[in-house]
Amino acid sequence: IGLGTVPDAAQAIARPTLRAPAADSHKYTRGFLAVVGGAMPGAAVLAAMAAQGSGAGYVKLFADSKRNVPADLVVDEGPLADVLGDDRNTAVLVGPGLGRDGTARERLAIALAEAVPVVADADALVLLGPRALAARAAPLVVTPHEGELVALERAFGLDGAGTRPDRALALATAAGAIVVAKGPDTVVAAPDGRLACAARGSSWLSTAGTGDVLAGVIASRVATGVEPFAATCEAVWLHAEAARLCGPAFTAGQLAEQVPAALAACL
Ligand code: AMP
Ligand code: MG
Repeated sequence: IGLGTVPDAAQAIARPTLRAPAADSHKYTRGFLAVVGGAMPGAAVLAAMAAQGSGAGYVKLFADSKRNVPADLVVDEGPLADVLGDDRNTAVLVGPGLGRDGTARERLAIALAEAVPVVADADALVLLGPRALAARAAPLVVTPHEGELVALERAFGLDGAGTRPDRALALATAAGAIVVAKGPDTVVAAPDGRLACAARGSSWLSTAGTGDVLAGVIASRVATGVEPFAATCEAVWLHAEAARLCGPAFTAGQLAEQVPAALAACL
């Protein structure tokens, strides 16, 4: 649904008002995000770079190797439990570039055991189900595109009936997670019934890696300590605005580079 057809119960996602870091800020007070990648660093690197430009003070990438990772990204080769056990962590992003094998499943379980908010995207959504979430109490944000939404509905025993806002709310309730149902008309739903709809975004977003950028922006906003539903809506707006600023035919890397300019429009 676009802006013109927002359901009555939904709020339209408008430009957020953001604040520059306080004068006495330092990198550990502005949000410390751990991005959990895997053997293929590309998507996790993209998410981490988008996160760096979205407000968090410190972004650390967990990866199997420092190879193919840009020099201005902090990489920790683990063990993952130690990386996430750092009590300065304020949020975790897991999924882009995670993989789908047994190691990926173990890493997802370690991430979900953290007491800080977790954002799960991409490969993590294929591995997610009621069992994986059984012991989770802290906030969780999931960011499925249509195919991933169908897979999650199946995993949580939902029939997928109704409009996209209906489906997002049903999954949010079943999973106890904030759901970002991505597509031309992105909707954000929370387990407590809150629902927000984005204005129709640039159709040039239909290119590889743009979802990884969104996941990084969401995780970064969440890491700053903003309430997770509000942080998620901020990120959806920033991502759409970055795409608008890119104009036509951009790459996901170029999209990530525009996020600070989108953020500047909110200060
Ligand atoms: P993913 O499928 O995970 O790579 O995510 C794609 C991103 O691009 C999401 O933020 C979608 O909402 C957005 N997107 C994909 N296709 C379109 C489209 N045709 N118009 C607007 N946004 C889109
Ligand atoms: Mg994706």
